[in-house]
Amino acid sequence: MNSVAQRLADTPSVRDTVLSAARAARAFARGEAELGSAMAHAWILTGPPGSGRSVAALAFAAALECSDPTEIGCGRCRHCRDVLADAHTDVLHIVPGGLSISIEEMRDMRREAAKLPTVSDWRIVIIEDADRLTGPAADAILKVVEEPPPHTVIIMCAPSIDPEDFSPTLRSRCRHLYVPYPSVDHIVDLLVAETGASPEDARLAAVASGRHIGRARRLVTDPEAQKRRATALKLAEMVFHRDEVFKAATGFLKGVDKQVKEMSDEQDAEELARLERALGKGGRGKGTQKAMDGSAGALSDLEKAQKTRRNRRRRDFIDLALVDLAGLYRDALMLSTGAEVPLTHPDFEGLSRELAAKVSEPGLVECLDAITLAREHISVNVTPTIAIDGMLGRIRLACGAS
Ligand SMILES: [Zn+2]
Repeated sequence: MNSVAQRLADTPSVRDTVLSAARAARAFARGEAELGSAMAHAWILTGPPGSGRSVAALAFAAALECSDPTEIGCGRCRHCRDVLADAHTDVLHIVPGGLSISIEEMRDMRREAAKLPTVSDWRIVIIEDADRLTGPAADAILKVVEEPPPHTVIIMCAPSIDPEDFSPTLRSRCRHLYVPYPSVDHIVDLLVAETGASPEDARLAAVASGRHIGRARRLVTDPEAQKRRATALKLAEMVFHRDEVFKAATGFLKGVDKQVKEMSDEQDAEELARLERALGKGGRGKGTQKAMDGSAGALSDLEKAQKTRRNRRRRDFIDLALVDLAGLYRDALMLSTGAEVPLTHPDFEGLSRELAAKVSEPGLVECLDAITLAREHISVNVTPTIAIDGMLGRIRLACGAS
């Protein structure tokens, strides 16, 4: 497995910060030095979604736990391998995953953070999507961050340190590290090694996803994601065929719903079963009925959170499709103006050339505006069907489709 330095080679600023922090942390853990300025107990890693914040967070944790006497973050020792495989005893990795973080997880987190490490130098808590933490969850983290146990490190990931994304109070107590987008070449190497994809497929995915690692990975591994992308891009062709484009849009939304249902049904059922077990449902004792009476609140909280997650997934899928579609109009605009830039969707070059030939430059700009507006509408909870139909109507006009 690659060393931490190799994993972060593409983003030298991140690599250097992480390695010097780990070096200082090692000296401190061994009682050879003070913690110093290179290392801190609480970190916030920011960067655009898909830039590899979580990759960087795990690499950082590996560098901290590594036991190789000479190469910090060697990638070979037991600790490096366990951390990188997300299976290290002293590393708690919290991924809120759309469902708001539960009280139990928060209690776990505080309990874990307070413990001494058992097999390594550091107790590490990684919290992804820290921008989704609200109220009590953020307070719980703040408590740990304000008075960190001497051998505990908290690494949080968020899109940015804007007050909208991250609590300013929490921010003021953390070291900030920005993780930029990786290069296309780096993503290609990563996907080829990780998924066995061909370099050509990996390159196409890296470019088409706008260098978003998670999306690129999904594009090479998930045929449904490929299908959704193709359906979205073909809308640009369908706008020239009156009613069919609206039918195609309805079909696309149905496909999204199906995918969201497949992703969510099983997960929802598992969570419900776990909660029911925790609440003692199925027990026979006298206390059972009483416990059930008090549990209605917990059940309805879960239901609400699951519904929120479904909605978020649905919105995310639709938004990504609109980003794809915008990429196609951008390609057409670039071709039309003769700008020498790489295309976002090289495999749909035929279509973007056709658009460049058929639609004027102001028309293409108008199409891009229509997509931006639809994305904004969907982000503030306008029904996707309405937002998308409105967008397609505008695009039809801009393209002079009759
Ligand atoms: Zn190691």
